[in-house]
Amino acid sequence: MTTQVSERTRVAVIGAGPGGYPAAFLAASMGMDVTLIDPEAKPGGVCLFRGCIPSKALLHAAHVLDQAEAAAEFGIRFERPAIDLDALRAWKDRVVGKLTDGLGLLTRQRRVRYLQGRARFVDAHTAHVRLDGELVEVEFDYAIVATGSVPARPGPLAIESPRVWDSTRALEVPEVPGSLLVVGGGYIGLELGSVYRALGSRVTVVEMTQGLLPGADRDLVAPLEKRLRASGVEFLLGTRVAGLEDSGTTVKVDLSGAEVDGVREVDRVLVAVGRVPNARDLGLEHTGVQVGPRGFIEVDAQRRTAEPSIFAIGDVAGEPMLAHKATHEARVAVEAIAGLPATWDPLAIPAVVFTDPEIAWCGLTEAEARERGQAVEIATFPWAASGRATTLDRPEGLTKLVLEPGTERVLGVGMVGSGAGELIAEGVLAIEMGARATDLQLAIHAHPTLSETVMESAEVFFGQSPHFTSRARRR
Ligand code: FAD
Ligand code: NAD
Repeated sequence: MTTQVSERTRVAVIGAGPGGYPAAFLAASMGMDVTLIDPEAKPGGVCLFRGCIPSKALLHAAHVLDQAEAAAEFGIRFERPAIDLDALRAWKDRVVGKLTDGLGLLTRQRRVRYLQGRARFVDAHTAHVRLDGELVEVEFDYAIVATGSVPARPGPLAIESPRVWDSTRALEVPEVPGSLLVVGGGYIGLELGSVYRALGSRVTVVEMTQGLLPGADRDLVAPLEKRLRASGVEFLLGTRVAGLEDSGTTVKVDLSGAEVDGVREVDRVLVAVGRVPNARDLGLEHTGVQVGPRGFIEVDAQRRTAEPSIFAIGDVAGEPMLAHKATHEARVAVEAIAGLPATWDPLAIPAVVFTDPEIAWCGLTEAEARERGQAVEIATFPWAASGRATTLDRPEGLTKLVLEPGTERVLGVGMVGSGAGELIAEGVLAIEMGARATDLQLAIHAHPTLSETVMESAEVFFGQSPHFTSRARRR
């Protein structure tokens, strides 16, 4: 039997991921009465429970395995590692538990009301929240929809089989299959493919376009692709999966592409071909909220939907589907609700692929400049000329600046290399502060660090790099 309870709140935040929980916390810190709603017992969303955090914990373990092997190059040999999967899984779960417990505590400390359950709108100021037969009616002045996204399983990839995984299943590390075929050479395919390769699987990545990570510049992708190929990962580019069939013990994959045409049998398949926004089953039809053709909720620059009392942020409100983009939108929406002149106008949203080497970029990419027909100057510094990269035995990286001709303003920064994900923050700051190549050239960077490669690429722009003789090129 359903018990009905009614509550009133100033702001109802639906979904407690990196969009929802920061929105709830900020609104509460501004003095608003806030209710945060999510099916999980604790905040965290996809990012903490089955995305960013567990994947980075596993990637760290993979990195340790790789580093132990690489140490042979400088005379240090470890024994072949023994992998205790139960212990690895338990450690990854403890990482997630620590962070989500912390968010639960912060929720209570900030006096945010936490309702466990699924919300559905019944009108523009009311949502019903259900859990285990109980129904709570929440009346709100404003709602922020932050319901995120779920893995896409289009067409032939949509089979139900314990041998065909999505990212959520792969992150549980149920086993280390002998062979793993990954469909999709994007963020998840490369990150989780790298984890399973390091754990011992024979990994094949099938990508339908002609290159990995279609959004990234090719010169950044090349060193990663080369290193992964050298480590035994097979790439089938320009290849489609026409069908999947569970044989009972293996999966038969029907492939069609330039390099391969026919059926391959593998132990497990991981499908990582993108994510779809969670805008269905929210009762949006009872409100004025509009959903676009690709399933994203349509929002304006303040993240307000076509229904004035309802905002949307994060994966459900459009690309890029990144945690930090969701968190920044949370600020915009809450400030808008508070009547402040907030607007969504970032110049640079960093993208980081946490492979080894990492790829990171922000602002304008060279490929985007080419597509738009925009003239830019490109200054590239290869890490082979970096003292720090040499001491780390990781010379394959590079740092590049995309600069505006005439003004030398930094429009974009791209990197590939060990730790590039940490270094890209300097690029974001440079772009947001309107820095020019001169600013990067004249800011003293500590030696020997990889951060010097940012300064050195500015030196390349002026033809003055002490360690590399090339100059900038014009595109
Ligand atoms: P989510 O984190 O998806 O949270 C939405 C929450 O809303 C969920 O808890 C969901 O259960 C809940 N919800 C859904 N419907 C309802 C409802 N009706 N009522 C109440 N609650 C509801 N991004 C990065 O920036 N860096 C990374 O390293 C990274 N790694 C990733 C790795 C993987 C394997 C995956 C899958 C994603 C990764 N992402 C990463 C993407 C990142 O997880 C998302 O961009 C981010 O979580 C989006 O945040 P969000 O708040 O919009 O939604
Ligand atoms: P993605 O969009 O990054 O990559 C999907 C890839 O699959 C693309 O290269 C696409 O061309 C390819 N593809 C699509 N359909 C295909 C098919 N039928 N056969 C073969 N290839 C196909 O998507 P993802 O890897 O699933 O990740 C989803 C999103 O989650 C990402 O776009 C990103 O926003 C987010 N994410 C971010 C991080 C991070 O920030 N490090 C990590 C994981 C996920």
